Amino acid sequence: MIHGSCHCGAVTFELLEQPKWLTDCNCSVCRRIGALWAHADVGKIKVSCADDATIGYITGDKTLIIRSCKTCGSTTHWENLDPPRHKHMAVNCRMADPEDIASLRIRRFDGAENWEYLD
Ligand SMILES: [Zn+2]
Repeated sequence: MIHGSCHCGAVTFELLEQPKWLTDCNCSVCRRIGALWAHADVGKIKVSCADDATIGYITGDKTLIIRSCKTCGSTTHWENLDPPRHKHMAVNCRMADPEDIASLRIRRFDGAENWEYLD
């Protein structure tokens, strides 16, 4: 089980199943954040925080919202803005214990240009 937490601890998450890989995306947002995303169905990720603990950033085609801790600034996860149609979300595994993700494969994703994995 992979757990994550923002730096100050206000936002935590739990992955209820082991991800097959982590995604390193080169799009204009992800490359700035430096995130390693674990994608999963909404029901397989549990995020715990107060309702007002995060700030959200919506960009591009406005299909998802990227959430960061309001206190420490760590980007913890993103959610789809249309969950009935898109049941996926992702958590930033840079928030996890490095030992817990060390064995996971990291796949580079070309979100900037071709919207496909580069391996
Ligand atoms: Zn925080």
